[in-house]
Amino acid sequence: MKVGIVGGGAAGLFAACFLKRGNADFVLLEKGPECGRKLLLTGHGRCNITNRKPVSELKDGYHEASGFMKASLSSFSPDDAVKFIEEELRVPLKEEENNRIFPKSDKASDMRDALVSYIGSGNIRTGFNVVDVQVENTPEGKRYTVISSDGKEVTVDKLIVATGGQSFPQTGSDGKAYDLIEDTLGHKVTPLYPALTGVPVIKEDKKFTSSVSGVSVYAGAGLYLKNKKTSKTEGNVLFTHDGLSGPAITELARNISEFVVEDDGWIELDFTPGREDKEIDQELLEEIRQRPDAKLTTLGKKYVPASLSEAIGERSGVGDTVASSVTREARKAFVNNLKHLHMTIESRPKFETAYVTRGGVALDEVSRKTMESKLLKGLYIIGEALDVDGISGGYNLQAAMSEAYVAVRSVLC
Ligand SMILES: Cc1cc2nc3c(=O)[nH]c(=O)nc-3n(C[C@H](O)[C@H](O)[C@H](O)COP(=O)(O)OP(=O)(O)OC[C@H]3O[C@@H](n4cnc5c(N)ncnc54)[C@H](O)[C@@H]3O)c2cc1C
Repeated sequence: MKVGIVGGGAAGLFAACFLKRGNADFVLLEKGPECGRKLLLTGHGRCNITNRKPVSELKDGYHEASGFMKASLSSFSPDDAVKFIEEELRVPLKEEENNRIFPKSDKASDMRDALVSYIGSGNIRTGFNVVDVQVENTPEGKRYTVISSDGKEVTVDKLIVATGGQSFPQTGSDGKAYDLIEDTLGHKVTPLYPALTGVPVIKEDKKFTSSVSGVSVYAGAGLYLKNKKTSKTEGNVLFTHDGLSGPAITELARNISEFVVEDDGWIELDFTPGREDKEIDQELLEEIRQRPDAKLTTLGKKYVPASLSEAIGERSGVGDTVASSVTREARKAFVNNLKHLHMTIESRPKFETAYVTRGGVALDEVSRKTMESKLLKGLYIIGEALDVDGISGGYNLQAAMSEAYVAVRSVLC
């Protein structure tokens, strides 16, 4: 039995390792000049390979796919991943805050190089851009012939598709493989969204975010589309020259549809989450009474960093006004901007900057226990090509590893 893997990213590389460990006859086909180009960028070049939360908690980081992911995460958990990477790949790991696991060396290249060396160069063919797959029925079952853009052919008995999503297209996962998966293999692909990325705001709001660019602050963030709050998060918000970023914002990005401009979308920031507007107003009033000669924006430092308080002051029309001269309306406007800062979205975030892709091969057409296609026997789909996206913190690479593990377990049995 010969196995083919299309795509030499994280999922394909781990699948190849598990096949190697099982002494299988296999070939990994990667269209780029080298494997793991996206893997090299992960964790800002440090590779946050997994997250050591218990599976019962971890699964909730996969949004709508949490039920789908439970089976593969339970079969190959973060603890299994750590064991495999340290004992078989010989990459020492360390744990950082929020259970995130990185190579001790802080080098994603150590992870990529260890994977490639474990697999062995004889099993990898780079520069092999799969553009067609022919499926043949034989008495022993289906056979797959994959054809490259320059006409080379490889025939296998089992085929693992690990072609990634559509984000960071310069790394090879440019979304073109979805056409192949849909048109040639007949799988449904759900709508694709850039996820885990910053959100650009309109020109007028860019002036605000630019003036406090680099400031990171804890806040509640609500996403409004068509005047309706569709999702909310709480965490650090980072102001940038282009708009908003940081974990609280990047988690919202996956919900912004391509029609956002017509839909009139905005993000509302609350710098004192969990507290009522009235409570902040009363507190501020008391501060004004105690420090009438201070600027209102100086009093605002109780809630946000100084530069942000000044930007909020300017937007509220209080500027340099001393507290005792601030009108009731101006104070209310200041509190309103502390609790409900309105940032209008300019456009849908770009796939070029998105860490992952929401959407992909529809999960109802794939077995959650084996990743085998329910349409074509012997075909497996793993990694970001599937309609699975996780939150940040090692979730996406763990998904790639767990899915690769259960697929190979099924291939080998
Ligand atoms: C900047 C950045 C940082 C990230 N950091 C982290 C992190 O720290 N932790 C984490 O968990 N996740 C992180 N992620 C997400 C994670 O990298 C991805 O979820 C993961 O790489 C997906 O693995 P994959 O193998 O499914 O896809 P990919 O890694 O995208 O690999 C797909 C491969 O398939 C190849 N391919 C595509 N089409 C074809 C074809 N037709 N023929 C042959 N080959 C083909 C591509 O060239 C590519 O090499 C990050 C993502 C980015 C962009």
